Amino acid sequence: MDDLMPDQDLNRDQIIRLLSADGVHEKEQIFSRACEIKKVHTGEKIVVRGLIELSNICRKNCLYCGVRKENHSVHRYEIPDAEVLEVVKKAMEEGYTSLVIQSGERTDQVFIHRIERLLRKIQVMTGHGMRITLSCGEQSPETYRRWADSGAHRYLLRIETTNRDLFRSIHPRDGSHLYDSRIRALQDLKEAGYLVGTGVMIGLPGQTIEDLANDLLFIKDFSIDMVGMGPYIEHEKTPLFAERDRLWPAEKRLEKSLLMIAVLRLLMKNINIASSTALDVLSPKGRAMAFHAGANVLMPNITPVRYREDYLIYQGKPVLLEATELITRISSELPDGSRIDLADWGDSRRSSMPAFC
Ligand code: SAM
Ligand code: SF4
Repeated sequence: MDDLMPDQDLNRDQIIRLLSADGVHEKEQIFSRACEIKKVHTGEKIVVRGLIELSNICRKNCLYCGVRKENHSVHRYEIPDAEVLEVVKKAMEEGYTSLVIQSGERTDQVFIHRIERLLRKIQVMTGHGMRITLSCGEQSPETYRRWADSGAHRYLLRIETTNRDLFRSIHPRDGSHLYDSRIRALQDLKEAGYLVGTGVMIGLPGQTIEDLANDLLFIKDFSIDMVGMGPYIEHEKTPLFAERDRLWPAEKRLEKSLLMIAVLRLLMKNINIASSTALDVLSPKGRAMAFHAGANVLMPNITPVRYREDYLIYQGKPVLLEATELITRISSELPDGSRIDLADWGDSRRSSMPAFC
């Protein structure tokens, strides 16, 4: 396995071989190499970003997502500004310096203004001490610029899969869920000056190891700053649930998700890689395992508990776990020497390098 982990770039065949690793010893070797590289290139700190699920109102109908527009059994909500500010104030008092504001996708002016206003209020309230990541879907270049001007630093928009046929098969064919639009949006985000994050779902029906290798190469070529990727988890009130017999078993989805994190760390040594919440659905220690495989970002949910049941993008999502409880638990399960650091903004070393690096 050592010859598969050279210091120089891995090629596609090598990536496929690493992602196909099956033996316990082989996988352990890959995880421990990724973990070593993480320590050298990003340090011992685990960066924390508090996640606020602002609203589940969405104009889209992604076939995998529990809050898709046509799931009429979902109670729709929007957390009012005052309540969001209370959450931010509490987070600040607890030492958080980085937040993610996530929402269903809306492109109406009311929503665009609302996000703009909210970002400005948060920046004023925190004395510009809070790094804000947005994850509010595909928007126009102008909207991205306005939100950046109002105080958003980073933007997370997953490509979901780089296999165009697979992308088509998990989205409705209605002209508003297009692969090319997603690519365009990622480019627009870069041009608007964001630190851009993307990611994919792992274990989609029909997805292959070759697809996953291509996903990693896409992420590398796109020169992404942070990555949030995790297993696909089914939701019975979505059209993709009908394909559940084609899914890899939970254990394999977990294993491939961890290998994706590890191989990405071998490919991109200094970027931010999140340990996704969905990992905990497949194993009680799923998120902790990701830190042993090369992840360096934890995103505890700090949304008020009463909204969380309504942001059920997949079944089994942990909705009752308090952020402090999660941090305590994960802290005791980290690799030796690693520690959680709320005070670090978590700008990846890549993002602080001069543009020519
Ligand atoms: N609406 C925004 C968007 O789509 O970018 C942000 C919120 S959306 C819920 C965030 C991510 O959730 C998506 O990019 C998708 O990868 C993930 N997601 C949705 N349904 C999922 C599922 N069933 N299993 C795993 N991840 C899922
Ligand atoms: Fe809406 Fe995002 Fe879910 Fe798609 S993944 S339905 S855009 S919340």
